[in-house]
Amino acid sequence: MMKRIIQLTLVLLQTLSLSAQEKAYPNHPVCQTEVHDSGYYMKHAEAFLAKTLAGRQSDTRGINFSAPYVVRVFIRIVRQNDGSLPGCTAATAIQNFDEMNGQYNGHNICFQLVGLDYINDTYLNNFNSDALLDDGTYENYIRNNDYDVDGAMTIFIHYNYLNNNGSSGNAYGIPNHFLSVARWAVTSSNVHSIFGHEMGHCLGLYHTFARYNDLQETVTRNTGNSCYNCTTGGDLCCDTQADYRTSTNQSEDYVNNCVYSRNYANACDGLQYNPSTINIMSYMPWECISFTSTAITPNQRTRTHATINDITGPVYFRVAEDVVLLTTINANTDKVRVYGARTTVSGLANNTVTHTGASKAYFAAGTAVIFTPGTTFAPGSGGLANAAISGCN
Ligand SMILES: [Zn+2]
Repeated sequence: MMKRIIQLTLVLLQTLSLSAQEKAYPNHPVCQTEVHDSGYYMKHAEAFLAKTLAGRQSDTRGINFSAPYVVRVFIRIVRQNDGSLPGCTAATAIQNFDEMNGQYNGHNICFQLVGLDYINDTYLNNFNSDALLDDGTYENYIRNNDYDVDGAMTIFIHYNYLNNNGSSGNAYGIPNHFLSVARWAVTSSNVHSIFGHEMGHCLGLYHTFARYNDLQETVTRNTGNSCYNCTTGGDLCCDTQADYRTSTNQSEDYVNNCVYSRNYANACDGLQYNPSTINIMSYMPWECISFTSTAITPNQRTRTHATINDITGPVYFRVAEDVVLLTTINANTDKVRVYGARTTVSGLANNTVTHTGASKAYFAAGTAVIFTPGTTFAPGSGGLANAAISGCN
């Protein structure tokens, strides 16, 4: 009898601790990435992009890439210290990755999976998004442990997403080169945009209801209207319909079959809001967000391209060159190193490539990975060398 009581108590405790861990999630995206982390050029993304592309011809920094932009991505599934409780399976992560490509490929952006691994770190796996802890704590932890991969955008998938207040992801900044997502969203059959939404922030996109300069976006698109502010307020994209912060808090009342029907007008121009229910940066119901390129507008595309081409930004050196020529490499620490090219990664005759000890080397290219004489792979415990054809050709 006593044994039974103990067992019951244990079951109760487990149930209680589970319910204390993760609250019920709303039927739409919520994330903690705020507009104040803005890229300076974003108010003039189109002009910035045009100027940058014109200057690219004389760029001597050694980066040689062209559209479609092949953005290297490294997926890191987090687990407990003992290797249990992974954020998801590799297959599920790749499914989410493929869904993201479906939304971005039509906009000349292709994500190249250069590697996928597991991080055994109980602290990171029990991600606590409590506001008090969300003060750079995890961002710094990720950076200080070199979990963010040089040369690739890094996606972390966490088993627990504690004290989340409904949040299921975080891009830490706009723009940025790594993001975190919750297990529940990655594994939910109802969610197909969690990677794409957080990646949108990493590529410079704001929420559709954002209030840049503290300005609620008005509805009018008439530049002669004194209320016109879509170029200086809101999400700075005039081709995303005006949205407002609480639109989705009321979506259960006002969005039916993905049609928005609230009779609600902007105070300045008196025009009724009709926010997009398919845009990837909205908080509309998960099932409404588009699977295809219609999830992103042309203005949003321009902003992502501006972010990608900004040589001072976090994405530029994570875009795959058309060809990567391996220079002399001598690596033996456990840091992940990626070598990803749009078409070919190739060794050079007079250079030696040496990966030994705990070094982790990932080579990925759309057409060929070529190792020349002088290449040595002798991975020790915890080390590996991985070469794959992975691309968008
Ligand atoms: Zn967001």
